[in-house]
Amino acid sequence: MEFEESGIGEECGVFGCVAAGEWPTQLEVAQILTLGLVALQHRGQESAGIVTSNGSSPPTYTTLKGMGLVSTAFKPEDMLKLRYGNLGIGHTRYSTTGISELQNCQPFVVETLHGKIAVAHNGELVNAAALRKKADQYLLISLLTMQDFLGDKGVLRHGVGLSTSSDSELIMQLLCLTPPMEEVDAPDWVARIKNLMTETPTSYSLLIMHKDVIYAVRDPYGNRPLSIGRLVPISKLHSSGGEETDTEGWVVSSESCSFQSIGAKYYREVQPGEIVQISKNGIKSLNIIPRPEGDPPAFCIFEYVYFARPDSIFEGKPHKKDFSSLLNPFHVSGLPYIEVLCKNRYVGRTFIQPNTRLRQLGVAKKFGALTDNFAGKRVVLIDDSIVRGNTISPIIKLLKEAGATEVHIRVASPPIRFPCYMGINIPTKEELIANKPEFKDIANYIGATSVRYLSVEGLVTAVQSGIESYKKEQISSGSKASTKLGHCTACLTGKYPVELEW
Ligand code: SF4
Repeated sequence: MEFEESGIGEECGVFGCVAAGEWPTQLEVAQILTLGLVALQHRGQESAGIVTSNGSSPPTYTTLKGMGLVSTAFKPEDMLKLRYGNLGIGHTRYSTTGISELQNCQPFVVETLHGKIAVAHNGELVNAAALRKKADQYLLISLLTMQDFLGDKGVLRHGVGLSTSSDSELIMQLLCLTPPMEEVDAPDWVARIKNLMTETPTSYSLLIMHKDVIYAVRDPYGNRPLSIGRLVPISKLHSSGGEETDTEGWVVSSESCSFQSIGAKYYREVQPGEIVQISKNGIKSLNIIPRPEGDPPAFCIFEYVYFARPDSIFEGKPHKKDFSSLLNPFHVSGLPYIEVLCKNRYVGRTFIQPNTRLRQLGVAKKFGALTDNFAGKRVVLIDDSIVRGNTISPIIKLLKEAGATEVHIRVASPPIRFPCYMGINIPTKEELIANKPEFKDIANYIGATSVRYLSVEGLVTAVQSGIESYKKEQISSGSKASTKLGHCTACLTGKYPVELEW
């Protein structure tokens, strides 16, 4: 139950689509992108954007962006503008860096020396501040020494000025730089992407559209998810296997939950450090950038706990299937599992300024107690996390007032003690209840009879069980992917996957 509406911010969602076969395509790429983004709406609700391309040389890009949910950001009459797209990428945003305004809405499009590129990004660059200085220096050099000789092309060769505060524009800057070992002006996009990946180790899942292809890129630590799906005729959707000749198009998404709603079959994950080229001819793995020797991968463990939809597949397995049975104490204890609260999902952020009466009603506006189910009984309540500790107390009070004799809280994650620098908005250290003196007697502080947390080891075991066998299968099927297991637990342990640069 998501009781703790406490300020952990989800991140962003990216989605891409390339029509297979002859172009112009009959596939409605813009509609597929829109539906894909709707399925990723839980990852960001501040703004949404789509860029489609006809894929010709030079390509025509069409961009649509808006604030709010996908359903309100795109008007039907505007969607018509995107109808000639053979490929495209989309983004739904929750701002972790950069302020919330249309200017920061992705995907970004920029003109480079080698044609336009569009970029959609999920994550946050751990060394953004250092990179930003570097990008500014390059720009200064280009302006002082090259523009007089080369005009606008000199500026393009070294990127353009940063006009927004988001990491995604910084990524575009780095892509515009000529890699050190390349000839000046060489249009080798794979070398440029590799250069970006060596400049910044994490955290990003990226879609880069250029000419007639999309590059799907995951950072070497695999901190953010990215999966590939295959669009098939609806009649083949539920048949197992299937020929790749049936393929109507390829999709790539932050989460595979979006594949069901658009008639795509899960194909595989983009591996940590992998650059995959997606074109009308299919999928091609171009390179895998390794991590420093000995470093394990660091997929965000909170994707399992909190962010991702339960019908998504991560690391080769449906994530909630095994996970919930291990976490759910009702499953192992034999205690009856009953509903005790009814949530009004439509309260959300209200525009009504709370007066004293509404404030006193507090949590009752959002939850109704199913009194007959528990009056006179002891209740064990499961929450996915306790972050600030200010949302659960009114719920406990509500249950007690409605007749619960005891309320025991069990938390399906360890205490959160540290900030995240990889794309998740977590309150400051001082705001986290686990760092406050009151935490020593948290049960008393929140009004519960008892409180127990899952241990870090328990969470890691729950997540990693089953993944090992999948990794072994990958090796036996000839995959070049690393079989090392590892998850980021930094907000729980303070051990970050890379050294932080400030
Ligand atoms: S610090 Fe926490 S939220 Fe951030 S990537 Fe690591 S596990 Fe995920």
